[in-house]
Amino acid sequence: MDFMGIGLGELLLILVLALVVIGPERLPEVASQLGRAVADLRRQANQLSEEFQQSLQLAAEERKQQRLAATTGGAASGPYCAQCGARSLEGARYCSQCGHRLVEPPATTSSVGGS
Ligand SMILES: [Zn+2]
Repeated sequence: MDFMGIGLGELLLILVLALVVIGPERLPEVASQLGRAVADLRRQANQLSEEFQQSLQLAAEERKQQRLAATTGGAASGPYCAQCGARSLEGARYCSQCGHRLVEPPATTSSVGGS
């Protein structure tokens, strides 16, 4: 058993020393307080690393979205490239990604000739 880098023998030595210094009456109380403190510390460390990872993930997600917005030029209404699927700026004739000629989005108001 390895307790925070301290061997079992050393831990026993510390316990004996604590027994001498603190006294046998107060030792259980102090030991439980110590145990609680260690558990609390470990919990806080876990929480901290969890929060750190969450913020890291959030930052990565943000960066990804920023990159996505940069590649699309922030234009949500521009025409799609049939070649690579990238959205170009509105009014663009050629794809900014691959240079493919852009197809105009089909007009929804065009009258479809019925039979
Ligand atoms: Zn393209």
